Amino acid sequence: MIKPLLSFITLLLAANSYAQIYLNPGVDTSLVEVKQALRFYNKYVAGFNGKNIPDMAKYWPQSEVKLRKVPDQLIYAINDYPLYSMGCQLTILYIRPTANYVHIKTQFSVPDSLKNVMTMAIANYYVAFDKNHQPYFKNPLTTQLGGWRSRAMRNITYYYPTYHTFNAKRADSLITSVARLEKEWGLTPINIRYYLANNKDELYKLQGFDYTVMMGNKEAPSGKSDDKDNQVFCGGLGENYFHEVVHLYLNHLYPKSPLQEGLAVFYAGSMGHTVKWHLKTVNEYLNKHPETDLTDLDNFWYTDPFTNPGSAIQGMLCSMIFKKDGIAGLKRLMQYNSYKEIFKKEFNIDTAQINAFLKKSIADESVN
Ligand SMILES: [Zn+2]
Repeated sequence: MIKPLLSFITLLLAANSYAQIYLNPGVDTSLVEVKQALRFYNKYVAGFNGKNIPDMAKYWPQSEVKLRKVPDQLIYAINDYPLYSMGCQLTILYIRPTANYVHIKTQFSVPDSLKNVMTMAIANYYVAFDKNHQPYFKNPLTTQLGGWRSRAMRNITYYYPTYHTFNAKRADSLITSVARLEKEWGLTPINIRYYLANNKDELYKLQGFDYTVMMGNKEAPSGKSDDKDNQVFCGGLGENYFHEVVHLYLNHLYPKSPLQEGLAVFYAGSMGHTVKWHLKTVNEYLNKHPETDLTDLDNFWYTDPFTNPGSAIQGMLCSMIFKKDGIAGLKRLMQYNSYKEIFKKEFNIDTAQINAFLKKSIADESVN
């Protein structure tokens, strides 16, 4: 995921409050079924409070709740914090009642300092009614997957669009990496749903979005893991997006480690490139910008559209420990809850020395 946007989203969280739902001009709410669908949607939205989300079983059919803890694929698609709690203004742009459901299209936006609208997402909800006229949400993911293909390999079920020719060789490579990872960390196989497409925009549409702030720009491989329901959404690397699968296996073991992303980068690179590739570009950037201060790694998140310097440095720290102490070293490294502890206990570096230490390490590790 792209760090500048995440920082922006974090800013939004600070302004988190219950969002009033507005109606765009032209939206007709006079029909009874539209009124009923809107009441249902409003109640659902009101059920979000910070990290707390409404009881999914009250809004989604049993078949959906059985498949996933969180049937609503829009809640965590952009961030690990619920979309409805990000402090956005909600505007219903469009309502279309059909024979089978009422389609509601909502814009999530925030005003900038000049009150211009900045749109974070445009999302679709489909409210249907059961035989007792009780409303429930239909899942756009389930509906659209009806037109996709699927293939199960070991513990991974792949879902892919019809234009895609399944590449069993790439799937085999992923399975081999997964089996090795399980062995190294003493873990049993996790059943994973793996959705793949040519790019991330298609995957956001599969989930039910028309638009998210993460879409567009020059294409680069991009993925998202969902460890609540053991799913990965992978655009651009076909059947072998190991990075996101690593997150599913290892994130929950070390929920407080600042190196969760680094561990996935260590194993599988990032955005289609290895740790070393990223370190080379970071090193070139640092040579051109010697004033850059790496003391607070969270503040170093952008060099160019294809590199995530923070993740690359995290991956480098994992790689350095692995070279020294193998998997046992990585298991030890992941136990720490802060960078300060990691630098002190693993590298014997105080805060004042972090900047120089990292710059030297980046220069060394980008060539070795
Ligand atoms: Zn990651």
